[in-house]
Amino acid sequence: MCGVFGVSGVPDAARLTYLGLYALQHRGQESAGIVAVDEQARARAHRGMGLVSENFNEGSLAKLLGDVAVGHTRYSTAGSSVIGNAQPLLIDYREGPLTVAHNGNLTNAPALRRELVDAGSIFTTTTDTEVLLHLIARSRKTSPEEQIREALERCEGAFTLLLSVGRTIYAVVDPRGFRPLVLGRIAGGVVIASETCALDLVGATMVCELQPGQFLKIEDGHITELPRLLPRPESRCVFELVYFGRPDSRIFGESVDRVRRELGRELARRHPAPGAEVVFSVPDSSNAMALGFAEVSGIKLENGLIRNHYVGRTFINPSQALRVAKVKIKFNPVRGVIEGKRVVMVDDSLVRGTTSKGLVQMIRAAGAKEVHLRLGSPPITGPCHYGIDTPTREELIGANHSIAEIREYLGVDSLGYLPLDGMLHAAGTRSKFCHACFSGAYPTDISEDLVSLRHAPPITASA
Ligand code: AMP
Repeated sequence: MCGVFGVSGVPDAARLTYLGLYALQHRGQESAGIVAVDEQARARAHRGMGLVSENFNEGSLAKLLGDVAVGHTRYSTAGSSVIGNAQPLLIDYREGPLTVAHNGNLTNAPALRRELVDAGSIFTTTTDTEVLLHLIARSRKTSPEEQIREALERCEGAFTLLLSVGRTIYAVVDPRGFRPLVLGRIAGGVVIASETCALDLVGATMVCELQPGQFLKIEDGHITELPRLLPRPESRCVFELVYFGRPDSRIFGESVDRVRRELGRELARRHPAPGAEVVFSVPDSSNAMALGFAEVSGIKLENGLIRNHYVGRTFINPSQALRVAKVKIKFNPVRGVIEGKRVVMVDDSLVRGTTSKGLVQMIRAAGAKEVHLRLGSPPITGPCHYGIDTPTREELIGANHSIAEIREYLGVDSLGYLPLDGMLHAAGTRSKFCHACFSGAYPTDISEDLVSLRHAPPITASA
C-alpha cells in the first residue's frame, strides 16, 4: 500500500508535501520521497528508504525548490523493497520531466512488461509503475493528457496516481476506484492526498473525493476536469475501511471511525461473548471496533494491551523471523486489567495468525482466565492483487484451516469472525466494494504469474 500527496500553486510546495506525508505514514513505511518542480519546470527529487522523519531534513527540503510537488510513502506490493523502487519515479521524456506516484497494483503489468521488453524497452525498476511510464513515453498522441489517457486505458487493476508533466499535475483514479484520493484547497493552491487526515494536517479545506475514473489536470492551482476513463464496475477496497485508513479520515464518503465502530457492534451481535468481563482492542486499528463491541455487549472496555508506537507495523516488515520478534516489541499486556479475568480481544483481521498467537500467549501469561478472540472481518482466503500487501495463499491461515483449527492454533477459548454480509453492512451503502481477499470474487482477471512476479528480485547494477 502507499500514500500519495501532491501540491500545486503553493510556494515551498515540498515542505507542505513533507508535512502531508507524515499523515500518510501509516500507508507505507519502507520508503518516502518528494519530487518538486520549480518555476522553470526543473524537477528535483529526494527519496530514501524508511520513514518520512528519517528521510528529510532542512538541507534536503531546501533543495526541493518550487510551487509544485508530488510525494509518496511506500510499502512494497509490487517490486522489492529497495531504493531503486522508491517513488515518486522521475524521468525525462519529450514533454519535460515526468513524475509518477502510484498507489495500487496493475494486474496486467506482467503482460504489458513482456510486450514492452519485446519491443525494446529497458526497465530500471521492478515496479509495475514503470510499465506505465513506458506506455506514456511510447504513446503517439500529441498532448501529455492524451498520452496518459492512452496508457491508462491499457492498464488493468488499481491505480490511484499523481503524475506531473513539467509544472502540470494530473490526478487520476482507476475506473473501479479501488484506492482513495481527495482534493483540497489551500491559500489559492491545490492539495491532493490519499486521505483526508493529510488535508487536515496541512490546514487544507476538502473540496471533494475523486470518483472512480475521474481524471483531473491541475495547473498553477487551477483545476480542469478531463473526460473520465472508460467506466468499469465500481469496486472500492473494503479493507481501506476495515484496516488500512486512519480512523480520522473519511474514505469513500464514509467516516472510517463510524465504520469501525459499526464493525464492532455487528461483531457483538453476531458473536457475543457471554460471561466475559473485559473487552479490549489490539491497538490501534481496532480501537473503534472494541468500542462498538463494548457498547452493544455491555462488557467493560479496558486498555488491555499497550502498543509501543516507535515500532513500524509488524506485518510490513518482509522477513518472517523479524515479524515474530516484533509482536513482543510492539505489544505488552496490562496485568492489572487482565489477571483472573475472562477477556475478549478484538482485532480487525487475521492474516498469518502470528500476531494473534503471540498476543494470546502473552495475555494468558498475564493471568487471563479465558481468552475470546473477535475479528471485525471474515477469514482472509486469498491474496490482494490491488495494492494491499497480503502474503500468498499458502501463508494465509484463513485460506487453509477451519475455524476450529485456527481456534486451536491460536489457543483461544472461542473465535468469532464477522461474516461478509456483516462487514459490508457496516461499510455502508454508498459504494460497491471489492472484497476479493475474503470472498475470492476478484473484479479483474488474475494471471498465474502475478504473485511470483510481484516478488521478483531487485534489479541490481552488478551481475
Ligand atoms: P497476522 O499476525 O499475520 O495474522 O496479522 C494480523 C495483524 O496484522 C492484525 O492485527 C491486523 O491489524 C494487521 N494487518 C492486517 N492486514 C495487514 C496488512 N496488509 N499490512 C499490515 N498489517 C496488517
